[in-house]
Amino acid sequence: MSVFESFGLRKVINASGKMTALGASAVSDEVAAALQKASQDYVDIDEMMEFAGQVIAEYTGAEDGCPTCGAAAGIAISVSSVITGKNLTLIERMPESEGLKNEIILQKGQQIHFGANIGQMIRLGGGKVVEVGSANKVEADHIQQAITEKTAALFYVKSHHAVQKGMQPIETMLEIANNHNIPFIIDAAAEEDFKKYIKMGADIVIYSGGKALEGPTSGLICGKKEWMEACRMQYKGIGRPMKIGKEGVAGLIAALKQYPFKKDNAEDQIARMKKLCQSLENVEGLTCSIKQDEAGRAIYRAQIEVDSDKAGMTAEQLLNRLETGNPAIYLRHHYVNIGILAVDPRPLLKGQEEIIANTIKSILKEEQLL
Ligand SMILES: *Cc1c(COP(=O)(O)O)cnc(C)c1O
Repeated sequence: MSVFESFGLRKVINASGKMTALGASAVSDEVAAALQKASQDYVDIDEMMEFAGQVIAEYTGAEDGCPTCGAAAGIAISVSSVITGKNLTLIERMPESEGLKNEIILQKGQQIHFGANIGQMIRLGGGKVVEVGSANKVEADHIQQAITEKTAALFYVKSHHAVQKGMQPIETMLEIANNHNIPFIIDAAAEEDFKKYIKMGADIVIYSGGKALEGPTSGLICGKKEWMEACRMQYKGIGRPMKIGKEGVAGLIAALKQYPFKKDNAEDQIARMKKLCQSLENVEGLTCSIKQDEAGRAIYRAQIEVDSDKAGMTAEQLLNRLETGNPAIYLRHHYVNIGILAVDPRPLLKGQEEIIANTIKSILKEEQLL
């Protein structure tokens, strides 16, 4: 029995992706062992944070790093650090930043909601959000002309949540930031490449530890040494209510060490999704096929098309029945309005593709008999 079932909570089968609402990632045995061992021992926290900074540096190519409890905390902590630097009095004053250089320039199409509002995370760190341009169109001039003597940083959000067209690219923002000698921060929370943005020249880059890294609930900031020291110092200030404990840091380090060795399991994904499709082969009203990720990543999902006349229910109704059942089964539903559901093999634990197929069959059978 899982720990959650022992609490009386419903078992969740996650076939949708890395969703904070479903607990982000299930970690490997190695990462779980690091979490457990760390939680049953003691360490000098300052020494551990500095060491973690060095490990982050090694795996990102940055000068130094700072562990966080998530990418959202990473946003607040980095923003605060560019406003306060290493001045303890200012660190203890945040997020009250009146009179300081506190303006954070953000393109309007990147003022997103990732599960929470990004502007609020910037304000938590004492930043004053200066949105430039329009939601679907930003010119370099908009960014240039927003710079004042109070500008603390330029902030870029690399995310599928952001508007992809009409925004100024990283290169342009970087050039403007460099010309004005202003730090450039990138939120790359869900990105898979932990080196790319440091290599491009960003001063500070923020990642989630629970997304591509498949670590525990955690995050990391990497970048220039001066800023990373200032980031770690924020744990004497606004970082305190967002602290990451020794367990989280140990788990994050273990996940970073494993990351370069993570193998491409495309074949395994395809085999599992084929099996799922085979068990749904003769089900009236369903067509199951294997589809590669729209963005071209090595993800092979089972796509289930629901013909509501034949199936006796719509894709939306099927989705709802799966989510409200026990176990609760969560499928991807970006195209549910046109009758398409998808099963993402990445978060599925062993054998769960069978449970999904059997549950779908029994729901439809029940419906067709009624
Ligand atoms: C998920 C996400 C975050 C927050 O990450 P957490 O690790 O859950 O705090 C921030 N920004 C973007 C773009 C995200 O996708």
